[in-house]
Amino acid sequence: MTEPHETPAPSAEHAVLERFAGARLWAAARAPYLASALFALTPLPHEDAPPRPAADEHWNLHLNPATAPATPVPELGWWLLHHVGHLLRDHHARARRYQEHQDEALRWARAADAEINDDLTRDAPADAISPDTLGLPDGLLAERYAALLDLIDPPPHLTPCARPPFTGPEAMTALERELLSRAVAAEIEARGTASGGWRRWAERTLRPEVDWRARLARLVRRGLAQASGRVDYSHARPSRRAAAAPSVVLPALVRPLPRVAVVVDTSGSVARTVLEQALAELDGVLRATGHRWLEVICCDTEAYPAQRVRAAARVELVGGGGTDLRPGFDAAAGADVVIVLTDGDTPWPARRPRPYVIVCLFDPSPSTVAGAGSGDRHSVPAWASVVRVPQERSAR
Ligand SMILES: [Zn+2]
Repeated sequence: MTEPHETPAPSAEHAVLERFAGARLWAAARAPYLASALFALTPLPHEDAPPRPAADEHWNLHLNPATAPATPVPELGWWLLHHVGHLLRDHHARARRYQEHQDEALRWARAADAEINDDLTRDAPADAISPDTLGLPDGLLAERYAALLDLIDPPPHLTPCARPPFTGPEAMTALERELLSRAVAAEIEARGTASGGWRRWAERTLRPEVDWRARLARLVRRGLAQASGRVDYSHARPSRRAAAAPSVVLPALVRPLPRVAVVVDTSGSVARTVLEQALAELDGVLRATGHRWLEVICCDTEAYPAQRVRAAARVELVGGGGTDLRPGFDAAAGADVVIVLTDGDTPWPARRPRPYVIVCLFDPSPSTVAGAGSGDRHSVPAWASVVRVPQERSAR
């Protein structure tokens, strides 16, 4: 047998799985709040796996039958905790904007390890990357570490974790992964014994709706209500008459959902992380209102074909030239609600578009927020509802 990804002999495979099971128990005892995530990992023994365990985005843990059975249980368990950290924190999706150049990809790999190993210093391998071994502050997100790593030369003996040679089968759907994340976050909150990094992650996962997020959710609900001719159900209380006479309520319920389109300014002046974060936020808001799809139109000076995706992480952010969002507005003209993600440095349609328009405005710096009057290049037409998203803070 000389095929790629050759599967090991049954006895070797058994030895890998046995050691994996032991390491999983060790890890679950060490971090009980991560137990459901640890048990969601699928062990994937094969001979092309790197010597150390590596995880792919589908929660497969690639294990090498030549090394895994001989790895001490605490060491293998540490790697399980490490990779569950990458997976729960969605590092595979967050890595995408760093994959264009090899040095960028390496910088991201180091930064992502620093974000996780912050909480995993005990039993860490000697060459593990952590804020401590890099001489950087604790408790930051990988995006911040990546920016800081651009400024320093990390000690050469520190190596990020291995990457799998291929992506294994999709064991869980995106929705299942999201539900698992929320369940783990709820578990972390309930127990209250997790480290600071995990508690902050749980907080972000369970309650992402602070300030601009709350406003965005409110405006989206208002837009949907207006589009479907209903009262804004984010404020209205159901009347007793409506409750007593179902026929009054029914027509509203059977009406199709208003069509929502998201126009994303991909001109290059808005950071990809900020766009991805806003998209993820919108994903949550729209899901809560019954939408199962996200329709996204990327636009720089031209509108790219609409992408219909099930999760924000699936959106391909294409573009990069100058900025003119007017073709994006034209492409979204058939929608009932249009949500625009931009830094506002664009010409706007001269006339009010038919859809309800919400503009998520990424301010280049907090100092420009105050002077957003007319004549300001970031001024948005009065017909649009505006959510101001501070770029610095939103990246946290
Ligand atoms: Zn890693």
